[in-house]
Amino acid sequence: MKDYQLDTLCIHAGYQPKNGEPRVAPIVQSTTYVYESSKEMGALFDLQEDGFFYTRLANPTNDVVEKKIAALEGGVGALLTSSGQAANLMAVLNICPAGSHVVSSSAIYGGTFNLFYKTMKEMGIETTFVSPSATAEELRAAMRPNTRAVFAETLANPSLAVADLEVFAQAAHEQGVPLIVDNTFPTPINCRPMEFGADIVTHSTTKYMDGHAVQVGGVIVDSGKFNWDNGKFPMLTQPDESYHGIVYTQHFGPAAYIAKCRTHLMRDIGAQAAPMNAFLLNLGLETLALRMERHCSNALKVAQFLEADPRVAWVDYPDLEGNPNHALAKKYMPHGTCGVVSFGVKGGREAATKFMDSLEMASVVTHVADLRTCCLHPASTTHRQMSDEQLKEAGVAPDLIRLSVGIENPEDILADIGQALEKATH
Ligand SMILES: *Cc1c(COP(=O)(O)O)cnc(C)c1O
Repeated sequence: MKDYQLDTLCIHAGYQPKNGEPRVAPIVQSTTYVYESSKEMGALFDLQEDGFFYTRLANPTNDVVEKKIAALEGGVGALLTSSGQAANLMAVLNICPAGSHVVSSSAIYGGTFNLFYKTMKEMGIETTFVSPSATAEELRAAMRPNTRAVFAETLANPSLAVADLEVFAQAAHEQGVPLIVDNTFPTPINCRPMEFGADIVTHSTTKYMDGHAVQVGGVIVDSGKFNWDNGKFPMLTQPDESYHGIVYTQHFGPAAYIAKCRTHLMRDIGAQAAPMNAFLLNLGLETLALRMERHCSNALKVAQFLEADPRVAWVDYPDLEGNPNHALAKKYMPHGTCGVVSFGVKGGREAATKFMDSLEMASVVTHVADLRTCCLHPASTTHRQMSDEQLKEAGVAPDLIRLSVGIENPEDILADIGQALEKATH
């Protein structure tokens, strides 16, 4: 499968049916799997044999989708999780015990920020936040002797800031720790972070990968390239007592990280993806390349339309020339970023609300990256308890509208925005 282009991998990677088998990867809706002897079963439990024995650890439908996403990102293996939140938590927990430290870009999804800032802190894992465009010196200054991971989002939700992945990767590697990158917004179609030095890639598959808003899910992908044998990761290089003393790096070679994530963490935490959700995700993945191309071309048209409209106060879209993230976006995502455009309507918070209420086709939802155009006004929804002053501190302008441009005909999207702008400003 390695030689195919990404759009072909979207369709064929992970599943090659043999004679008489179903053309479409089926849903294996079964918790368990039958073996002829307890000896065979025992070998599976001891990780001496490869095979399915309980769906919390592995399932044939999930396996197909994991192989497909690993191929798309260029990794050695992947693990589906029940949500993007679970993916980011497990990606970090797999190598960060209590007492360790993480350096993270500050431009990350709100849920991930809360996870790092509050929940992981309460678990004894501290995080230092740095700018997504931090220099090597700034990153070096944030490192501590107990730093065990560096984290960034390729293209941040919702700020659309682009992380300078090569600088982050180099700083992490200098410190002897991996770079974990949440690649949800660009998807591997627009950026493959491992090509820029990322060691682990995560996704909320709830977004573009699924694209149809039918399942909540996540994934962790292992590049297989990080050298864990530097004394900082005993959980991978020392015997695991809960598996009769197995040493992950010896037993699983380059796939040690993702194997431990599955056999140890997923065994203990149980945030696995349901096979039905994996099946639905797989349908979405088949058209990912086509959809991303259309999301990007539609979003650029919308951004250019808004930029030229006198009723619009400001527009933020990294593919617009003159955007502060344009240079980094071109470097890491030369074919386009994603379908999300942020903008403000003249007339502030009130005009923004009126704009949203006037939309006819686009829906107002707490979701992004859906094939249906949708939008959210943080100041009147997710951040409604905040004053204009507090919003400013949180980096959310009171008039900010986050528009997730879908794949409908661009003429219809522009017409809907145009009529809503008219109503909002008159
Ligand atoms: C939505 C999102 C998450 C969280 O994913 P869920 O599937 O909602 O748990 C994490 N990271 C990014 C960038 C996201 O957009």
